[in-house]
Amino acid sequence: MGGAAFGGRPHYTGAVNLPHSKQSPIWLFDLDNTLHDASGAVFWRLNNSMTDYIQEHLGLPRDEANQLRVQYWRRHGATLLGLEKHHGIRAAHFLAQTHQLPGLERDLRMPASDRAALKRLPGRKFILTNAPAEYAKRVVTALDLASCFEGIISIEGMRVFGDLRPKPDARMLRVVLARHRLPAHRCVLVEDTLANLKTARAAHLRTVWMQSYLKHNPHGPEAGAHLHRRPAWVCARIRRLRALHAAFIPSP
Ligand SMILES: [Mg+2]
Repeated sequence: MGGAAFGGRPHYTGAVNLPHSKQSPIWLFDLDNTLHDASGAVFWRLNNSMTDYIQEHLGLPRDEANQLRVQYWRRHGATLLGLEKHHGIRAAHFLAQTHQLPGLERDLRMPASDRAALKRLPGRKFILTNAPAEYAKRVVTALDLASCFEGIISIEGMRVFGDLRPKPDARMLRVVLARHRLPAHRCVLVEDTLANLKTARAAHLRTVWMQSYLKHNPHGPEAGAHLHRRPAWVCARIRRLRALHAAFIPSP
């Protein structure tokens, strides 16, 4: 079972427990730090470009711009939400300007065994990411995974009644699943961020905590999390995507 780490006994009762159906799951994969190591290649550059944007468009000194970026990220879960709400910044403009990241493709990496495992994994597959669609397409293409995914559900598709509601928003998740006609009990969300898994589990999705890249991200949202513990809302923990086969695909 490779790097998989599963609880010894089912943690939940009822029809939404671990493998119960002969149908393949519908997979929802987070992108950054789930399919690839974003900490090294992407996040520090994104933080810089967001600070640049705030500095330029709000006319702030650099250190204040940086503080505001972090403050909005903490308070709203995404810097963009704070900028939209308090400064009327247009989401499309902010996302396009901050995610240009020239030469990004050069720095993207994922283990070949994970790529092969994803390509073999039965079931419909979608990306579910708080990143913009253009960026997600670039990353998926550069990782040679474009043929794996039926669609990319990006931040542009996460508006509910006009408001931007990225993960871990529960209403957004319900709206998105309904829009794509994806029954929650058949969906498995694979993610590095625990808060997103918690909401998904409450909405009756199965959940996989992908831990491979957390160790490279000491300042991320899971800094200090106990990687050997499995919170109640996590159905499985994995260190490699290839472990998904053993956990979720019924034997013939
Ligand atoms: Mg992530």
